Amino acid sequence: MKTEKAERQDEKGTEGSRGAGPGRTGRRAREAVVRGIPVSAGIAIGPIYDTTDVPAEAPRRNIAPGEVEAERQRLAEAVALSRKQLGKLKNRLGVLPEEAQEELAPLLDAYVLMLGNSRLLRGARKRIEQELTAAETAVQDEAEAIAAAILAARDDDRAGLRRRADEVREIARRLTRNLTATPFRSLKEVPAGSILVAEELTPADAALLDPSRIAGVATEEGGADGHTAIMLRALGIPAVLGAQGLTESAARGDMAVLDGSAGTIVLRPGEKALAEGREALAAFARERARLGKLRRLPAVTTDGEEVELQANLEIPAELPLIQQSGAQGIGLLRTEFLFMNREDLPDEEAQVGAYAQVLEAMGGAPVTIRVLDWGGEKDMQALAEGIEPVHAGPNPALGLRGIRLLLKRPELLEAQFAAILRVAERGPVRILLPLVTTPEEVKQTREIYERVARRLRRRGVALPDKLPEIGAMIETPGAALAADAIALEADFFAIGTNDLAMYTLAVDRGEAEVAHLYDPLHPAVLRLVQFATEAALRLRMPVSVCGEMAGNPRLVPLLLGLGIRCLSMNASAIPRVKQAVRALDIADCARFARRVMEQSDPARIHELVLGFAEGAPEKA
Ligand code: PEP
Ligand code: MG
Repeated sequence: MKTEKAERQDEKGTEGSRGAGPGRTGRRAREAVVRGIPVSAGIAIGPIYDTTDVPAEAPRRNIAPGEVEAERQRLAEAVALSRKQLGKLKNRLGVLPEEAQEELAPLLDAYVLMLGNSRLLRGARKRIEQELTAAETAVQDEAEAIAAAILAARDDDRAGLRRRADEVREIARRLTRNLTATPFRSLKEVPAGSILVAEELTPADAALLDPSRIAGVATEEGGADGHTAIMLRALGIPAVLGAQGLTESAARGDMAVLDGSAGTIVLRPGEKALAEGREALAAFARERARLGKLRRLPAVTTDGEEVELQANLEIPAELPLIQQSGAQGIGLLRTEFLFMNREDLPDEEAQVGAYAQVLEAMGGAPVTIRVLDWGGEKDMQALAEGIEPVHAGPNPALGLRGIRLLLKRPELLEAQFAAILRVAERGPVRILLPLVTTPEEVKQTREIYERVARRLRRRGVALPDKLPEIGAMIETPGAALAADAIALEADFFAIGTNDLAMYTLAVDRGEAEVAHLYDPLHPAVLRLVQFATEAALRLRMPVSVCGEMAGNPRLVPLLLGLGIRCLSMNASAIPRVKQAVRALDIADCARFARRVMEQSDPARIHELVLGFAEGAPEKA
């Protein structure tokens, strides 16, 4: 993850728009390679659209006198967030060429100073109090007033004055972006075929991207298995996250070649790099066509063991891709999309429509609907600001997340259950509960579920005699180690290795700074997967893996060897995983898994997994 310092000189490289501020200086016409975490396969070649240059959408707004305190608080939070972002940018300067570092370091210091007891902030606070303007309006007005005063100064260094005025505007833009938290809503303006560059993209922002317009995405923040990465894979947009130093090196309009498998972004590519990019693009299309031929073949090992390969669904737009992928149903329907990017809650009718659409599209194949998993990085305005505010707390990943929130807000659960039950006659459906940690949570949830079913029956709604099954996600160490007790309450398990790895290793799955420590192959994670799988198998209870691990063909031998026979993954991963399954022998997998599970050094496990994958014969 570093900018290659030995950049190749490229006389033909283009200069993008230039101004002041991070993301605008330290750029050269030379080719440069920035490395990050490869999160979504594919090649994108196109101009950079740097969203840090996008003015945040902030219509002028006034507030009532009683809102002054809350507005001051919003401003204080945006200042704290901006300081944190600038601190991170500063920490990463080391990956940039020395020249750029020298240029940027004082600039970042100046920005941080402006976020202290500066004229900008004092003035903005005063405007909130005296003019009763919203924080973003106050910041913009004050920044414009300061910029105008700077430009009116009698000084012959006009360029210097313009630069200083731009610096004030830049910090105001950052504050506004953080205050409105809607930096990407205006992306309809992005020219088709662009590569979107941002410091950070939330899952809700990613859900708004149009894959037919956005060629690729690259961000400074983010991890391989965070929800933003998952969303980008779902949309099939080639993406590299955690690309540190990117926003300083890229400029709006620069050409770039992004490789979502290699995790590289070549900025201002020369002839050679462009030609290589075009060849890689064609090779990717050829490979996809080849894998497409596997669609109708069964996922059966060489010794005849059937493996169920299902798809994860983040947004309904994925349905055609899922249908083409040869998926045997949906193993994880993340219902968060219903709650994203809206200010109110979806009602029961809206949910019935969405679930019915999925069941219909799947034509009788099973669909596992997970009830709302709000929390962590998944910011949902409807819940955060809705009818009854939900406070995520200082540590959202450990707070009111998943089933905990739903049991506190049973009306959410009831609406979801009612909607799912109302479509239950239209196709085989199951219900999955997120972030379960105790058997009691499953028990309480089931009581609510049965109450909703009784109420629907009283209303004359036709329900199947046997209600859809309720399963538990096993995605915390607590749940994995209590799996035998949870298994007595649940009808099936789905092992969520993304959160399981995060909670086991105390590593945020979406945080670039600790991405090197995020490792689902860590023996602690694998032992928990094994423990939970065995608890289910002892009771002959269905168990699947639906974390991102399931979509990695290299990890299939290990998961099969541990006894897993159902894998649910991003639809585009299914052909490759099927190819891997069809080349494996279950007895070999079991021997291999035993060998892996004897190891306690993660590095050794990686070696073994790589060795097995390289040694295994490829067979379609
Ligand atoms: C997981 O945690 O592995 C999982 C599948 O759930 P999500 O990624 O939606 O948190
Ligand atoms: Mg999870």
